[in-house]
Amino acid sequence: MSFHLACVGCGTTYDGLKLRYRCDCGETLDVIHDLERLKGTLSTATFDARRISRDRLDKSGVWRFRELILDVAPEHVVTKPEGNTNLYDAPRVASWVGLDALALKHEGENPTGSFKDRGMTGGVTAAKRLGATRVACASTGNTSASMASYAAQAGMEALVFIPDGEIAYGKLSQALAYGARTAQISGDFDKAMELVQDLCNDEGIYLLNSVNPFRIEGQKAIGFEILQDLGWQVPDWIVLPGGNLGNNSALSKGMAELYALGLIDKLPRMAVVQAAGANPLYKAFAAETVELERVSAKTLATAIQIGNPVSWKKSIRGLLALDGVVTEVTDQEILDAKAQVDGQGIGAEPASCATVAGIKRLVAEGVIAPDAHVVGILTGNLLKDPDIVVGYHKSTLEGFTSTYANAPTRIGSTLADVKAWLEG
Ligand SMILES: *Cc1c(COP(=O)(O)O)cnc(C)c1O
Ligand SMILES: [Zn+2]
Repeated sequence: MSFHLACVGCGTTYDGLKLRYRCDCGETLDVIHDLERLKGTLSTATFDARRISRDRLDKSGVWRFRELILDVAPEHVVTKPEGNTNLYDAPRVASWVGLDALALKHEGENPTGSFKDRGMTGGVTAAKRLGATRVACASTGNTSASMASYAAQAGMEALVFIPDGEIAYGKLSQALAYGARTAQISGDFDKAMELVQDLCNDEGIYLLNSVNPFRIEGQKAIGFEILQDLGWQVPDWIVLPGGNLGNNSALSKGMAELYALGLIDKLPRMAVVQAAGANPLYKAFAAETVELERVSAKTLATAIQIGNPVSWKKSIRGLLALDGVVTEVTDQEILDAKAQVDGQGIGAEPASCATVAGIKRLVAEGVIAPDAHVVGILTGNLLKDPDIVVGYHKSTLEGFTSTYANAPTRIGSTLADVKAWLEG
């Protein structure tokens, strides 16, 4: 194996592919690739050649970068393929946030509608390599949708634990449709997360939350693909939402690896955006504390409604390495940003639009310069959470202002009715 695992806290190392998610000390683990051995063997030209190849692994926006993801035999790889998402130019959103230009990487265009597919192809591949027949996760929705789909593809049983009543319908319907055994527990996401870790340890079920280090490896490919989209030009900023904090940990890890390999000559800065009602990282980072204090999370962006994020240590380490910042935005700001993203014809779920709300804040505060080269990551698809969309445009979301409402009008059924509506 050309990689091993190392503890984020105490540094203890473990052999590569093992049924283990945490160090004996309780901290999370990193996959450490042998970068010295890889140095000089990889080039951006190789990745570009693979992008137009028809090979099963090359076609995946994750496995195209396989040397930096997971060293396994091709027959073990469970891929759909994933990635290859669009990087949209969003001029109207740019002017709304106060930037000259803004590019949005739409991870909601992955096979199950969120970036979770990039991590899941890594996690389920590790599960297959280890011979697992059952996989499990706690989820605010997208992880379960993705896991259920990849498990079905690989012929594994999927066990899903979701918080009661706090999951968007698009996501719940996917888990059910793909055949996952689904339990709605009477508790929040953080409770579900604790339960599933205990269950997996007791029963030898393979855990596929982002505490699983192989999920983080797959998610690094979002950053790789952004750079590839940009012809390997490094943007000034990459901005993304933070919930359980796996994704921003992955992004910074991947960038640091490319830099160490000499494939890029500078690092982007990173901004992580949290909902004000679920902001433990924002608080810890602002206070420069070494411990993260869990909060009781409440936001209508349910994908980031997490008060006790698993990957907070990796997240802070990555923020420091990329000269990063953390900001927070209100649900009202998220909703208005979402109306802008949707209105540009792009469209994304609420948590994704925290990205754009956060950029607006950081530009207003002078942290991001108006002429900076900024890439925002949209994490999930518009169709994941239709209730919020319709509620916003019909102005029925209690406690919120539908600033950019586009409500449907009820009219009669004659041509005259239609013409009156058209002119009115
Ligand atoms: C999971 C998820 C997030 C949060 O990502 P973390 O890695 O948990 O920080 C944000 N947006 C969407 C749509 C998600 O599904
Ligand atoms: Zn340790």
